[in-house]
Amino acid sequence: MIAGREPHFTDFPLHASILKDIAEAGYVTPTPIQAQCIGLALEGKDVLGMAQTGTGKTAAFALPIIHNVARTVEMAALVLAPTRELAQQISASFVTLGKSSDVRVATVVGGIPIKEDYRALQAWPNVLVATPGRLIDHIQCGTVVLKEIRMLAVDEADRMYDMGFMPQINRIIAALPTERQTMMFTATMPPDVEALVRHNMRNPVRVQVGLTAPVERAEQKLYNVGDKDKMPLLMKLLGETEGRVLVFVRTKRKSENLYRIVSARHRGVARLHGDREQAQRTIAMDGFRDGKFRILIATDIAARGLDVADIEHVINYDFPGSAEDYIHRIGRTARVAAKGLASSFVTPMDKPVLRRLEKLIGTELLPHGEAGEEAPRGQSSHGGGRSESGRAGGGGSRRRRGGRGRGSRPAAQPAPG
Ligand code: AMP
Repeated sequence: MIAGREPHFTDFPLHASILKDIAEAGYVTPTPIQAQCIGLALEGKDVLGMAQTGTGKTAAFALPIIHNVARTVEMAALVLAPTRELAQQISASFVTLGKSSDVRVATVVGGIPIKEDYRALQAWPNVLVATPGRLIDHIQCGTVVLKEIRMLAVDEADRMYDMGFMPQINRIIAALPTERQTMMFTATMPPDVEALVRHNMRNPVRVQVGLTAPVERAEQKLYNVGDKDKMPLLMKLLGETEGRVLVFVRTKRKSENLYRIVSARHRGVARLHGDREQAQRTIAMDGFRDGKFRILIATDIAARGLDVADIEHVINYDFPGSAEDYIHRIGRTARVAAKGLASSFVTPMDKPVLRRLEKLIGTELLPHGEAGEEAPRGQSSHGGGRSESGRAGGGGSRRRRGGRGRGSRPAAQPAPG
C-alpha cells in the first residue's frame, strides 16, 4: 500500500488476469480488511483477520489463494466455512474472481446428495470449499485427500465454535500438511478460537477492522416492546419498507408461524431455517437475492453469511441471543458501501444482551422515540420516554451520533410477486 492515498488493487502484485476479474466484479477499491490482508497473504504470512461478514473478507482470502493456486493441478487450497450458504457464497466469489485464472472450485457441503460431491471432486479442483461435517465424511471415505493443501482459510471461526465444530476443525487441520499458510477470520475471539489460532498458525499477523464498521453504517432503532406488541409493530414496519426486508426470529417454529401470518398479508415472502430442505433453502436465498421474494424470515444459523446486496431493513423480531449475533445480523444490511436500517424489538428479557452489546460496540442504543420521534403504533405503552435503564434520551437512536433521515435512503425497488 502506498501511504497517504487510497489503496488500489493494482498496489498488490496480483496476476493481471485477477485484476481484470476484480474490475469486472465491480470492485473499485479494496475494503479495509482487503487493504490490510492481501499484501501480507501474498508474502506468505499467516493472517488472523478480525472481521465480520459484510466487510469484504471473502475476497481478502480468496484473492491471495487464487493468485497462488491458479494453474495448479492438485487440490492446493482448502476453505472451511460454518454453513452451506456461506460455503456456496464463498465458492461463487472464487468463480467470479478467478474466472480468468484457471481456478477450479469444488464445494462439498452437507444437505446435498453426496453423488454431486463426487462429480465436483472428479473435475480436478484446485480449491475446495467445505463445511466441516461433510469434509470429515470425505476424509473418512478417502474421497478427499488433503496432502497437497498449501493454503488453508478458516472463515467465521467463532461461528464454527458456536456451532460445535471445533473437534471437526481440529481433525481436519490435523490431516493437512504442516507446511502451509493459514488464514483465519473471526469477528470475535472466544478462548477456543484463541487456542485454535495458537496451535495451528505460525506467528500470525493480526489484522483488525473495526468490529463496529457495518454497524456504524446502519441506522439502528430499538423498540421497547412486550411480546404482544411485536406482531403489530412488524406489520407496521413491513408496510413502511418498500425494499428487501430480512426478519430475524429465534426459532424454526417462530419462522414458520411468522411466515404464515406475514405471507397472508404480503406477497413475496420466504422463510429460511435449519429444518428446511437444502433445495428449499436455496430457492429462498436465490429468490431473496434476485427479487422474487422481498421479505425473508430467517433464523440466525440459516441466515449466517447471507450475501444479498441492498437489504433495506433488518428487523430483529426476536432480539439476538448474544451481542455478537446482533453484529452479525446488522451486517446483513449496510454491506460494504451501502447504508441500511436495523430495527430491534427489545423485551425486558433481552436487556442483559443489550447491555453487553452496548459495551462491545461502545455505544449506547436508545429506544425509538427518545429522540422526539413519533413512537410507532402498537407499542403505545412502551417506546417513547425514558428507557428502562433510566437513561435520558437525546441525539437520535444512538448516543454517539444523530439518526440518519429516512429520506436520504435511495428509493428501493419494489419486488415482483
Ligand atoms: P463479504 O464480507 O466477503 O461477505 O463481502 C460482502 C460483499 O461485498 C459481497 O457482496 C462482495 O461481493 C462485496 N465486496 C467485496 N469486496 C468489495 C470491494 N472491494 N468493493 C466492492 N464490493 C466488494
